[in-house]
Amino acid sequence: MTNYLKQLFWSIIGLMKSKEICQKLDIMIPNPHCELIYNKDYELLIAVMLSAQCTDKRVNSVTKILFSKYNLKQLATMKLKELEKELFSLGAASKKSYYLKEIASRLLNDYDGIVPNNRQYLESLPGVGHKTCNVVLAELFNENTLAVDTHVSRVAKRLGISNENDNVLEIEKKLELFFKGCDYHRLHHQLVLFGRYICTAKKPRCKDCLIKCKNIEL
Ligand code: SF4
Repeated sequence: MTNYLKQLFWSIIGLMKSKEICQKLDIMIPNPHCELIYNKDYELLIAVMLSAQCTDKRVNSVTKILFSKYNLKQLATMKLKELEKELFSLGAASKKSYYLKEIASRLLNDYDGIVPNNRQYLESLPGVGHKTCNVVLAELFNENTLAVDTHVSRVAKRLGISNENDNVLEIEKKLELFFKGCDYHRLHHQLVLFGRYICTAKKPRCKDCLIKCKNIEL
C-alpha cells in the first residue's frame, strides 16, 4: 500500500471511530451543559476563573452568595481582605481575590462591564488562560472551541486520542483533529460530564460506559 493509501485508510478508520464515540456520548450525555451557574456574562467569566483547582459545585455555592451581595462595580472596589473571606472555601483565595478584583475593574474600564468576544483581550486578564477563554467564548458566543480541563484531558488519554505526556494544547489539537467537523462546544460539555460522572479519575464506571476503550481493565 502506498503512503497515500495508508493515510487515507487511517483517516477513514479515525472518522468512523470518532463518529461512533460521538453517537455513544449522545446516548450517555444527551443534554450536555455547563454546570457552573450564572446569570450575567461576567458572572460566567469569574466563575470559570474561580473553578481552577476546585469543583463547580463549590464554586456555585460561593458565587450564589457573592453575586447576590455584590455587583461588578462593588467587586471592583471591594477590599481584598473582604473578598478573600468570601472566596475562602475555594482555596487559593488570596490569588483568586486579586484576579477577580482586577477582572471586574478592567471589564468596567475597558468594556463598560460587558464581556467582549475578543480572545486576545480575555487572555490578557489575570487568571484567564486559554482554557477559561475557550469555555467563555463557547458558552457566551457559541464559538466552536474545545476547552481541555482535567476531565477532558483524562478521557482523551484513556480513549487513546492523546498520549500520557501531552500538554493541554497538544491534547486540544489532537481532539480537534480527531473530532473534526463536530460541534466542539457540545462535545466539550459531553466530555466534561462523561469524565465527571462515568469515566471518573478513580474507579471509572466501565460497566455503565458504552465506549469500551482499550483501558477497560482499569
Ligand atoms: S471503558 Fe471505562 S475507562 Fe474506558 S472510557 Fe469507558 S469508563 Fe472510561
